[in-house]
Amino acid sequence: MAKEYAIYPFKYMNITQRHDQGNHLPHWKNSKDNSDKPWDEACKDSGRSYFEPKNDFKVEEIIGIDTSSTKGYTNAVRLKSVNKLTTPYGTDYLYVTLTHMNESNLKQVKKGQVLKVGTKILLEGTDGNAWGNHFHVTANFGKYYGLLQNSNDSWCFTYKKSLLPNEAFYLDKKYTTVKNAANYSFKEVPKEEKNNETSTTKTEDFFPKKGYFTLGDTHKNVGKIADFMYKTFPAYTNKKALGDYYGPYLQKSIKEFQKRTGLEQDGSTGPKTLAKLKKYGFNE
Ligand SMILES: [Zn+2]
Repeated sequence: MAKEYAIYPFKYMNITQRHDQGNHLPHWKNSKDNSDKPWDEACKDSGRSYFEPKNDFKVEEIIGIDTSSTKGYTNAVRLKSVNKLTTPYGTDYLYVTLTHMNESNLKQVKKGQVLKVGTKILLEGTDGNAWGNHFHVTANFGKYYGLLQNSNDSWCFTYKKSLLPNEAFYLDKKYTTVKNAANYSFKEVPKEEKNNETSTTKTEDFFPKKGYFTLGDTHKNVGKIADFMYKTFPAYTNKKALGDYYGPYLQKSIKEFQKRTGLEQDGSTGPKTLAKLKKYGFNE
């Protein structure tokens, strides 16, 4: 399975309060019990902006509707990534909480709903004691203990591990316009893995004419593949497969290889099969 990278889920990055500034400090500093590490994302700052995820997230919990004035809770939503995500900190399910959406906005989502990539429902707001339209955001890994008040009287989304924004998300500069990263140094989302890149650049040279080898072809690279198959997978490669001619014996052993490695079993060797062979040590 390919890695799914956690991408910063807003089109504008305008972090107006870090986890170690202002009223976020008591969320964790000198807390004797519960903590989280929130940051404020004010997005575009003209009009209101959406949470627009680049990964699928599921709604775990909706907090605060119709209760904010009486219980002191502010409107909030707790999300969980649908897939395990690779973050700069590590790979796991990523939990995100967003606070301060207006009531009407939050009423549009239901518990269990999946917010697919690009969904625009959750709109920043000024619910609670927010000073202006923004999202108060936390990102977390591991077990959730609750929205708990800590020894500094701050209400915290208390998880096993609270992540800083640049630990939780990679930045995709093609997607997010950075206005203010508040001195968090974000990593750019990793490009395709290196060995894939080299295999695609070399692919054309390796397959001279039509871009793959199949039954009936003759080429020195066919001989290399046959050699490799015979040495590495003798259990299902016949000696008669050896040589520069792509015959039925080689075809059969490639089919078996494709079957065992989850590829389409056409018995031909193209870029996908070649990339897989390389994973088993094949050198061009
Ligand atoms: Zn905040």
